[in-house]
Amino acid sequence: MLGQQHVDSVANLRTTSFQEAQVAQTLLTFDHHQSRQVVVRMKKFNLNLKNQNYFPTFNNLPEDDDLDLRYYDDPHNMGRYGPTKHWCLLGEIVQPIPYFRPMLRVRDKVGKEFLLAFYLDSDQGIPKDMLRHMKPGNTISVMYADAHNFSDGQHGIRLEDSDVERVKVYPCTLESFLSLGTRVDAMLSDKNCSSCGSPAPLQCSGCTIRYCNQECQRKHWSSQHKKECLAVKQIADWKGRNWARFGVKDSYWI
Ligand SMILES: [Zn+2]
Ligand SMILES: [Zn+2]
Repeated sequence: MLGQQHVDSVANLRTTSFQEAQVAQTLLTFDHHQSRQVVVRMKKFNLNLKNQNYFPTFNNLPEDDDLDLRYYDDPHNMGRYGPTKHWCLLGEIVQPIPYFRPMLRVRDKVGKEFLLAFYLDSDQGIPKDMLRHMKPGNTISVMYADAHNFSDGQHGIRLEDSDVERVKVYPCTLESFLSLGTRVDAMLSDKNCSSCGSPAPLQCSGCTIRYCNQECQRKHWSSQHKKECLAVKQIADWKGRNWARFGVKDSYWI
């Protein structure tokens, strides 16, 4: 069956270029209507946080005043451009900038620093638990980020009230976040205690990793897991999604 071959190639896909991402998208769109098995297979989409297509560096983001065909397409030639894939900017907060509006200096995974500025109607615009983590050394993610030329000549990211829900902050470094990307599967499939390896009936309510008892969980939380839990939960969620496809049913993930 034609479909089966496509399904297997998609399941094993490690997308390394935008062209490949586009091929994957076409195949998945086609196969989606063929059988339920495809939907199951799609959950194994092989997400790599170092993939440039889905986790671009700041310099590779689309500009907010320009149409970047690596990100957008007009599939029906109707003059209506939409995203062709999902993407997320990952960065580490270098420092908050004291100013009348919330602003951060952020560094991406290749060391490029840029300004991230919130243009909000009120101070309540940023949720408290996010604000709490907006500290140097913590990781920030912005889904569907685009770059903006500020009037003072700086190049950065401008976010308004409606954009805040695309932003998340995690209490760990970018290096830890990226390394969790390769460890999350093993952490979540381990049936034993994440701290001591004993049989583990309990689960973390945040990310579902397992523990033998509350004492072990408490110790692990203060020594390590409080820095990782949010990231583990987020990465696990991303791994269950198909980044190569941006369709009607799986539009913006916010
Ligand atoms: Zn234990
Ligand atoms: Zn957890």
